[in-house]
Amino acid sequence: KKKIAIMTSGGDSPGMNAAVRACVRMAIHMGCDAYCVYEGYEGLVQGGDFIRQMDWHDVRGWLSEGGTLIGTARCMAFFERAGRLTAAKNMILHGIDALIICGGDGSLTGADRFRAEWPSLLEELVRKKELMADQVELYKHLNIVGLVGSIDNDLSGTDATIGCYSALARVCYAVDLIEATASSHSRAFVIEVMGRHCGWLALMAGVATGADFIFIPEKPREDNWREEMCGIVHQHRKRGKRKTIVIIAEGALDKEGNKITAEMVKDLLADKQGLGLDTRVTTLGHVQRGGTAVAYDRMLGTLQGVEAVKAVLEAAPETPTCFIAITENKIARKPLMQAVQDTKEVAKAIERQDFQMAMSLRDAEFEE
Ligand code: ATP
Repeated sequence: KKKIAIMTSGGDSPGMNAAVRACVRMAIHMGCDAYCVYEGYEGLVQGGDFIRQMDWHDVRGWLSEGGTLIGTARCMAFFERAGRLTAAKNMILHGIDALIICGGDGSLTGADRFRAEWPSLLEELVRKKELMADQVELYKHLNIVGLVGSIDNDLSGTDATIGCYSALARVCYAVDLIEATASSHSRAFVIEVMGRHCGWLALMAGVATGADFIFIPEKPREDNWREEMCGIVHQHRKRGKRKTIVIIAEGALDKEGNKITAEMVKDLLADKQGLGLDTRVTTLGHVQRGGTAVAYDRMLGTLQGVEAVKAVLEAAPETPTCFIAITENKIARKPLMQAVQDTKEVAKAIERQDFQMAMSLRDAEFEE
């Protein structure tokens, strides 16, 4: 009987529980034993009670829960071969020969490395007499499949990562709340959103809330960004807009690669020599990650979890590690490392040109 383990790793994201639930139930449905590895790679390195067999009922009610109920962690030991060696041993001690990992690009890169090293890890375990040769023979191939769980939507090759639409919904909700008070006092708000090096959340929130101006890392601002932003805000104000919303991704940059911070933008909007607006900064922070998953993420986690189990059962030793994507509304398997590589080369947030037009719908672009 095949034994499939599922774990969550890296930053948590809404919808991870849906993915875990789907993997557990699909694995059981396919006649396999399902396991969860608690606390990400840390659990794999620690072994013992961190690796638990799951029953169909163990994941009841998980669909609507936020975060990840099996825990997640960053694990330094897994960066080292020694840590991965212990992880391999623990997997074999539990009889696990297939692993589904739901995490960001770091976690999935670690997974690919683990899979590539697997045969040599087993040889080393036999050499060190930690495992018997015949025990190892049964586990020659390690099947690994990735699920992308991240609020940042920062992986190329998939339209959406599990969790990004929940975070986007939360950002929009927060902006709506802020807008009411901004309007009342005729204030400006600079709202910082998460996303590290990826501006997808900021860009989509800008489109969805009709923000006055946005800053994202994929579109480093020209030297004249100060004049440009103040010009647009000034026009909006002249046309009677009582609120100003600027959305800034935490990784926003200028053309020279210097960071543009929310405080810098605030000082500019508040400058008495210029616009002189009563301006506040709101950093949304981890509110964006928390709470229950929106319907889309529950659906995505479920559909992709089902596909991940199928993929891990069908994976051939000679094919590259795959991850489960969604493109044009279809769930698909794609080579993992290609997507990681493309992510480094393609600016995901501006892959979609149509959004450029949507941003141009703000008042400042309207010729009266
Ligand atoms: P997020 O997008 O939320 O940051 P992530 O999966 O990219 O998620 P990381 O902190 O990069 O988060 O990685 C999570 C864990 O994956 C690390 O703590 C480490 O245990 C493992 N990992 C990441 N990169 C590697 C690697 N190159 N080799 C081995 N393990 C890795």
